[in-house]
Amino acid sequence: MFNNFQALADRQLSGATLTRQDALAVLTSSDDMMLDLVAAAARLRRAHFANTVKVNYLVNLKSGLCPEDCTYCSQRLGSAAQILKYTWIKPEEALAQATTGIKAGASRVCLVASGKGPTDRDVDRVAGMVEGLKEQHPGVEVCACLGILKEGQAEKLKACGVDAYNHNLNTSEEMYKEICSTHEFADRVRTVEHAKAAGLSPCSGLIVGMGESDEDLIDAIFALRDLGSDSIPVNFLMPFEGTPLEGTWLLTPARCLRILATVRFACPDVEIRMAGGREMHLRTLQPLALNIANSLFLGDYLTSEGQPGQDDLAMIADAGFTVLGSQPDNDSSAPAATSHDMPDAETRPGAPLTIRRRGAGTEFAANA
Ligand code: SF4
Repeated sequence: MFNNFQALADRQLSGATLTRQDALAVLTSSDDMMLDLVAAAARLRRAHFANTVKVNYLVNLKSGLCPEDCTYCSQRLGSAAQILKYTWIKPEEALAQATTGIKAGASRVCLVASGKGPTDRDVDRVAGMVEGLKEQHPGVEVCACLGILKEGQAEKLKACGVDAYNHNLNTSEEMYKEICSTHEFADRVRTVEHAKAAGLSPCSGLIVGMGESDEDLIDAIFALRDLGSDSIPVNFLMPFEGTPLEGTWLLTPARCLRILATVRFACPDVEIRMAGGREMHLRTLQPLALNIANSLFLGDYLTSEGQPGQDDLAMIADAGFTVLGSQPDNDSSAPAATSHDMPDAETRPGAPLTIRRRGAGTEFAANA
């Protein structure tokens, strides 16, 4: 057991493997240790990523109408959430949406489609989009997120220029059966391994705040470490009305920081993304979280709206970071962040859960 967080940071900087006991100590540390914890985790973050923040941009190619039953998902079978539902958007719309994010500073575009997994025709369709995107923006990274992959599909994606593949483990193997009955944890592990074997950079992460125990969280984080995930998105549950997890508010901002810090200590050199739900769960501590995480999604999520993209850029600049790959004057021109009215309860949402009504699949401009 370490004496303090700085001693743990020293150990992790010298290449130690985080033990379960140390992970639990980080996860259960008290609020009055919060700044010490962030300062220690920040040493790992800065050692590997300096003061850069990688900006990713989501394009939802196909929304809702999924036959799977993941309890946390607004796009699930039987979801009554009033989200946008549409089938594959056209390649030119995908390109236009991606371009909006790239112009705003994104160095990676994440092309996402709902569903258990793609058909070979779907993979061909996405391949065409990626080729068009790479032609116009040769420097941008493309991550595909299309569900469980079948034989040969990862190789096809790699061949058309896809750089990374996202498929989240979400939670522990033990808890997985409680959040989904239509596929298994092992299916998810296999897809990440398949993508990695095909030469795609594995992106796999978590959804926290679903009622998991500390032990579940540590299992899930260690599973991601064992899988060799190059980037780990940490999503904070957005409990959509009309889904089984509606009304589930279990996170505090300090708990979110402790979770991010545990991931950082376990995987010091991995891209850690504060992902969906950061506005409503980290609330005013988002800039502090940037000292642990080194990546975020700009603007909106798949089916809900994020804070204005310009506020994301302002937050990055205000906290003393720079957007990875950006021009120097990009950040300083960003306007100041807006504030949100917040109710009083301990696990209150920091921002309302607003269904996305702009960007992909709509006639309205995207948030970037
Ligand atoms: S497979 Fe994906 S889109 Fe479908 S319900 Fe699960 S998380 Fe949602």
